[in-house]
Amino acid sequence: TPLIITIDGPSGSGKGTIAQRVAKSLGLQLLDSGALYRLVALVALRNNINADDHVALAHAARALDIRFEPTDTGVCAWLAGEDVSLAIRQEEVGLMASQVAAVPAVRAALLDRQRAFAQAPGVVADGRDMGTEVFPQATVKVYLTASAEERANRRYNQLKAKGESVNLRRLLEDIQARDERDMNRQVSPLKPAADAVIIDSSQMGIDEVQDAVLALVDK
Ligand code: C5P
Repeated sequence: TPLIITIDGPSGSGKGTIAQRVAKSLGLQLLDSGALYRLVALVALRNNINADDHVALAHAARALDIRFEPTDTGVCAWLAGEDVSLAIRQEEVGLMASQVAAVPAVRAALLDRQRAFAQAPGVVADGRDMGTEVFPQATVKVYLTASAEERANRRYNQLKAKGESVNLRRLLEDIQARDERDMNRQVSPLKPAADAVIIDSSQMGIDEVQDAVLALVDK
C-alpha cells in the first residue's frame, strides 16, 4: 500500500514548502490540493462563472483538463495544454479559490482526482482536509500551524524580497480573515484530524520542521 503523508494547516504555515521537501527527500509524489481549487477558480474567472453558480462550478471542476508536472520548486500546472503555474498564484485567483472551495459539489467533484494521487510508492498531500476527508487512512498526518503574526511576518518578508510594497498590518488582517473563513465554513472546515500530530512552527526554522515531519515517518 502507498505511503500517504498529509500536511494540513492554515495559509502561510509553510505546509507547501514542507510538503515539497518531504516528497523530494522520500521520492514520493506531491499533491498540492490548493492548486486544484485555484485551477477551478481560474476557469471560473475566465468564463465569467459566478461564485454562487454551484452547478456551473461543479461542472467546471469535473471537466478540468489538467496535468501536474513536478519541478524543483513544486509543481507546474497545465490547463488544457497551457502553463498556468503563475496565473493560479495571483491574489484574485486565491480569493476566488476560497469561495469555490466552500461549494460542496466542487469538493465532491475533486475528491477522486485527489485520491488518484495515492499510488505506490506514495504521496505527500498538502491542503486543509487531506487528513480529515481525502485520506482518512493516511500513514502520517501533520497539522502545521504558526501564529497569525508569524505567518504575516513571513509573507511580508517574501513579498519585500520580491520588491513588492506591502503593509504588514493589512497582511495580518488578510490572514485572520482567511483563517476565519477556512475554519468556519460548512463543508470540510479546517481543523486537525483526531490522529494528526500538531506542529507549531512559530519558533521553528524550515529545516527543523522538515526533520520533525521525517521523524514521524520513521517511527
Ligand atoms: O493552499 P492554497 O492557498 O493554494 O489554497 C487555496 C484555497 O483553496 C484556500 O484558501 C482554501 O480555501 C482552499 N482549499 C481547500 N481545501 C484544500 C486546499 C485548499 O479548501 N485541501
